[in-house]
Amino acid sequence: MEALFQDIQYLKGIGPKRSRQFKRLGVDNIFDLFWYVPRAYFNRGHPDPIKSLKPGEAAAVRATVKGTHASRSRRGLHIFKALMEDDTGLITAVWFNQPFLDQLINPGQELFVSGKVKTAQGLMELNVSEYEILDAGSQQVDVLPVYALTEGLSQKTIRGVILYILNQYLHHYPDILSPELKQKYDLCDIGFAFYNLHFPQDGPAYLRARKRLALEELLLFQYSLIQEQKKQQSDSYVVHQPQSNLLERIQEQLPFVLTSAQTRVLAEIYEDMGASRQMNRLLQGDVGSGKTVVAALSMARAVASGYQAAIMAPTEILVEQHYQSLRKIFQDQGVEVARLTRSTSAGERRSILEALLSGEINILAGTHSIIQDEVEFKCLGLAVIDEQHRFGVKQRALLSYKGYAPDLLVMTATPIPRTLALTLYGDLSLSIIDQMPPGRKKVDTRFVPNRNADRVYRFIARKVREEAVQAYIVCPLVEESEKQDLLAAITLYEGLKEGMFSHLEVGLIHGRLKAWEKEQIMQRFKAGEIKVLVSTTVIEVGVDVPAASIMVVMHAERFGLSQLHQLRGRVGRGKKQSYCFLLGDPHTEDGCKRLMIMENTQDGFRLAQEDLLLRGAGEFWGVKQHGLNQLKVADLLKDLKLLELSRILIQEIGQAEWMNSYIGKKFKKDKDIVNN
Ligand code: ADP
Ligand code: MG
Repeated sequence: MEALFQDIQYLKGIGPKRSRQFKRLGVDNIFDLFWYVPRAYFNRGHPDPIKSLKPGEAAAVRATVKGTHASRSRRGLHIFKALMEDDTGLITAVWFNQPFLDQLINPGQELFVSGKVKTAQGLMELNVSEYEILDAGSQQVDVLPVYALTEGLSQKTIRGVILYILNQYLHHYPDILSPELKQKYDLCDIGFAFYNLHFPQDGPAYLRARKRLALEELLLFQYSLIQEQKKQQSDSYVVHQPQSNLLERIQEQLPFVLTSAQTRVLAEIYEDMGASRQMNRLLQGDVGSGKTVVAALSMARAVASGYQAAIMAPTEILVEQHYQSLRKIFQDQGVEVARLTRSTSAGERRSILEALLSGEINILAGTHSIIQDEVEFKCLGLAVIDEQHRFGVKQRALLSYKGYAPDLLVMTATPIPRTLALTLYGDLSLSIIDQMPPGRKKVDTRFVPNRNADRVYRFIARKVREEAVQAYIVCPLVEESEKQDLLAAITLYEGLKEGMFSHLEVGLIHGRLKAWEKEQIMQRFKAGEIKVLVSTTVIEVGVDVPAASIMVVMHAERFGLSQLHQLRGRVGRGKKQSYCFLLGDPHTEDGCKRLMIMENTQDGFRLAQEDLLLRGAGEFWGVKQHGLNQLKVADLLKDLKLLELSRILIQEIGQAEWMNSYIGKKFKKDKDIVNN
């Protein structure tokens, strides 16, 4: 086992220089080499006939060298050309800046080359990116791995080193799975798996190898998560037992009746809160399904039981909004609500910290700021996290350190497969709000090409005049330069203010404004003073202004479905018919598809499914924060079944001392990323 963690510097054929090159690729030891997964494979068994090559396409050719020619370009670039022939035709292969090729490649040799086909002065050329001289010494297999390279390391070198460690060290690599388990679940040996990952015998062997290694990764990852979760678990817990009728009083004052879905999830939450163990609950509900009031009532229950509650949201505007709505709910009930963000002044911050510690403040709304060290509660009983996919595991963990293991409620509008949720969050229960508040109207959604933008503006002007509605216009940050984007938004804002909307109050909100400035603008929009709000950012999801019934999204083709759905969810909350205009000029098929799906689908769950298919799992669930994007073989979307299997197997495998050093090494770099 220890042999695997040996520095590769001491391997045969690798000295300090080579080892430095490998380190640049993230490879420190033999263990890393086993997991240095090929980025592609080179299939010599199926070369392309030269006659079939087309300019602009990638090709792989197996042919005999007829003649060679080395030259220099006017700017001093080395150019090496070889005329190559197979049974179907001739092509010139071209290499740049590799002067040593003149010695290496000679007429009569058989070569395997791959690269991109071009035409130069009417003749077909192949710009070579990979090549292999097929002589007696070359490996006698059809499929060769292609690795990511770094300066000074060639495919040949890496292949050689990997072949060497496969032959010399594979028997040191422990097989986590017993023969019985492997048989039961039809899994191959770890040795077979590594060998065939790098040098597959054939297709089926590769697939078996891939399956085994994907599972191996998921097992190690499960194991590392379990270790983390063990560290975080504590035997203490909070039991919430209301000692006043605060909850009843608040519920009476609500301007609406709870939906039966809200009532059901509240019962689930209350039961957890009253139990003598820590609540760890995920609350899932589509945009606009009314998660906020569920959070507020849960917090009321904590306060009624003599505890404090906190709610954490990803942006300042959201925090501000939670703060305002919580204040409205709690103001006449003798419940003290405060907010803490990065822009809270030092003096105010100090007095909030004191009041939290003394217990004077009952409820705190905040951004990341509330998980900083100095923030201490007297007795935090419930922590709520809004829009969970923006927060990582680590932040969640930190928040639960804040009390003596407070109950935890995590809210999200993004459906996440149960297996994945269980993996990421450990022992977690799920509540789902599967019903919208009554009276919601379908948001009339339309794609509008950019050239017809004026029609949309005219429509807005008329609606504002006739029905006193309000509108959002979101111009996202899409360009590389934030400055450029900001300028674009400002230009649009000024253009509308001077032109089409000259008779209306128009507001502009963007990330560069100070918190109080943003707050002031949002207040004026909420109060109905500002009729049209131009905004640069899409971060501020969750904003609740029921009178706003028109949403315009600029550059809509650049958004994912879930984001568009979030944005659309800002309207359709009041009594009026709402509209969502998706402006853009989609140039890709995906872009068109997304806009069409949006026109036809209101259901967040279905949209999420579609989004998942279009975008892949990694980005979709924000799993980057969990380090799962570091998986090299497994794919969360394709391998959900394996993830499930890994959850079963990890129980059977139990714990082994050596696995600790194993995950310590494998996920070390990943963890560093997670912690950033
Ligand atoms: P989300 O689940 O997206 O966070 P919100 O909590 O912001 O949704 O609720 C959306 C809107 O629906 C808010 O204006 C809220 O006041 C309103 N709402 C919530 N529950 C109900 C209900 N039972 N009946 C009517 N309106 C409700
Ligand atoms: Mg919300």
